[in-house]
Amino acid sequence: MNINLDQIGVRQVSGVSASKEGELHAFGISTVLDLLEYFPFRYEDYRLRALQEVKDGDKITVEGKIVGLPVLQRYGKKSRLTCKVMVDDWMVTATWFNRHFLKDQLTSGRVIILTGKWDQRRSTMTITDSEFPDKGTQRSGSLQPVYSIGGKITQTWLRKMIGQALDQYGEMIPEVLPQELIRQYKLMPRKQAIRQLHQPVDAGEGKQARRRMVYEELFLFQLKLQAYRSMNRKRSTGIVHTTDNATIREFVRSLPFELTDAQKQVELEILKDMRSPHSMNRLLQGDVGSGKTVIAAIALFATVRSGHQGALMVPTEILAEQHVRSLKRMFEPFGITVEMLTSSVTGRKRKDLIASLQMGMTDIIVGTHALIQEDVFFRSLGLVVTDEQHRFGVNQRSVLRRKGFDPDVLTMTATPIPRTLAITAFGDMDVSTISERPKGRKPISTYWVKQNMMDRVMGFISKEIDQGRQAYLICPLIEESDKLDVQNAIDLYVQMDQAFPKYQVGLLHGRMSAAEKEETMRAFYSNEMQLLVSTTVVEVGVDVPNATLMIIMDADRFGLSQLHQLRGRVGRGEHESFCILIADPKSDIGQERMRAMTETDDGFEVSRRDLELRGPGEFFGTKQSGLPEFKIADMVSDFEVLEIARNDAARLVSNEFFWTSPEYEPLREFLNRQQVFQGELID
Ligand code: ADP
Ligand code: MG
Repeated sequence: MNINLDQIGVRQVSGVSASKEGELHAFGISTVLDLLEYFPFRYEDYRLRALQEVKDGDKITVEGKIVGLPVLQRYGKKSRLTCKVMVDDWMVTATWFNRHFLKDQLTSGRVIILTGKWDQRRSTMTITDSEFPDKGTQRSGSLQPVYSIGGKITQTWLRKMIGQALDQYGEMIPEVLPQELIRQYKLMPRKQAIRQLHQPVDAGEGKQARRRMVYEELFLFQLKLQAYRSMNRKRSTGIVHTTDNATIREFVRSLPFELTDAQKQVELEILKDMRSPHSMNRLLQGDVGSGKTVIAAIALFATVRSGHQGALMVPTEILAEQHVRSLKRMFEPFGITVEMLTSSVTGRKRKDLIASLQMGMTDIIVGTHALIQEDVFFRSLGLVVTDEQHRFGVNQRSVLRRKGFDPDVLTMTATPIPRTLAITAFGDMDVSTISERPKGRKPISTYWVKQNMMDRVMGFISKEIDQGRQAYLICPLIEESDKLDVQNAIDLYVQMDQAFPKYQVGLLHGRMSAAEKEETMRAFYSNEMQLLVSTTVVEVGVDVPNATLMIIMDADRFGLSQLHQLRGRVGRGEHESFCILIADPKSDIGQERMRAMTETDDGFEVSRRDLELRGPGEFFGTKQSGLPEFKIADMVSDFEVLEIARNDAARLVSNEFFWTSPEYEPLREFLNRQQVFQGELID
């Protein structure tokens, strides 16, 4: 008999009334399956303990024999009941509050199981739960599940209802995982695992049950992504880029440096995707300064030489400016045209630009998000390069497709993230990693100093600038719109301008007009300005190789990854570079974070530490993160399983049998419910 538990309303569980059904809805429980998959988030330990082994203040469960008579004191509606109980060889005084009705059951010589807080000095226990083994035990000797509850739903009621659901339907819980995986990992069968999670026989069984369900959850999640990816590939509607290697080599040879081995590797991966008929969806990650931009340039070159146009989307105008400048330098000898489109390009200029894009006269367009919107059309868009802040969601990509083009997409991340997290967050993408920085780079020395060392820092600034170098001075700006922070930047600028009359000091913040920002950056690029006081608008991408000193005020107000990005603005040329963090953090974690920065300048290590200190939710900025929420798996502690599950899922969908064999019907059914076949992904 094949009954779908997700088609049976939770009302069918005996004991669930219409009003309770409504309450359960609030927790996302509407079917029997929802109820069975409502897993506890921890367990209450009711296993029997020996008094010798427990500590004062522990919450414990013990068994003992009642000695003497109970004493009841009443205070109005409240009451206090005490009774002497012999536990092991100890005489323990058990105290119940407001349980006067127990008095008659506390007969001398009767065995009782007590749960409560142990006060060793006074040899007393304040009882939260008690029961008599001669009446049949419920809890003792077991781990009791604790669910997330609220409203009119109580722990006891929910435990009972889930127990009831297990009695009525537990045997009908179907297996979903393929037998080969169950065998390979010695996984507990699904129905057993679900039962064990709610009613663990012992800790070992509970652990096995969790292991099974974590694997299942991560596997199904990955299966969804991998199936989606595989179907996209099969659709074969992407652009086949035809540029040959000789043409590309010609461009690469024109660059002022040789590519690193890591760059060559990702170049190959990207070109392979671009030449294939499926549309590329690839994430390019690499530490700051690893040379991602030139890889983007090669890909853009390839699309243009294949007769298409390329778009480069960046988060800020400053960055757009910079890229236009450097791409023009690279592409002009090849007769490739590069233009910029941001919100400050308006009127006639904008109209002309859009027309030129539509006619295919502009080969490459660099801009902010504005450039893929509404009235912007291309003659033939072959490649979109974006960075992290503009990561296309699955839905945006299908919007692009519906607009009539299906370009290859290359996403670059400014924040390197641990590989396993990349797999989760960007599971539908292929990942390329630039794993080394160009040779000959001197490491960046990072120092953490207290505010009272500012005088010496000023001395250090003079020394560097006297040697012909340039410096950034960053002050915290958490919100672009925060007036107070802008004022901080202005104050600091005035102070520096007075302190260094010999040098040109500049100011940059988010409230300046685009033209002002542009002029400031131009002066800094050309070394007309030696010291730049700035908010975090220079955080990503800005590339001035002659700048060797990065000073960050109130550094403890920044996230580690952000500090690492800022630090990445120096160490980009041949000169030795320094990063100075000025901070007086109060908390241990704050100090730990500053120390972490001085200990490593490897971006992957930094994000690992950041993740450890903050947890994944905050790391990605909760909601926008796009990270899925799991019922039972934990993204940090279940990292390894995630990677295994991903490989298993990828292997399975690439097997033709998966799409036809009856054995995999339940999994295909699952994918169907997730609408993967309609080209959607539902989180
Ligand atoms: P990021 O990965 O942070 O975007 P960039 O692409 O801005 O790094 O590169 C950092 C600097 O290193 C740039 O000045 C760039 O010209 C230079 N660069 C890139 N690749 C190499 C290389 N293979 N050898 C030497 N310098 C390189
Ligand atoms: Mg392609």
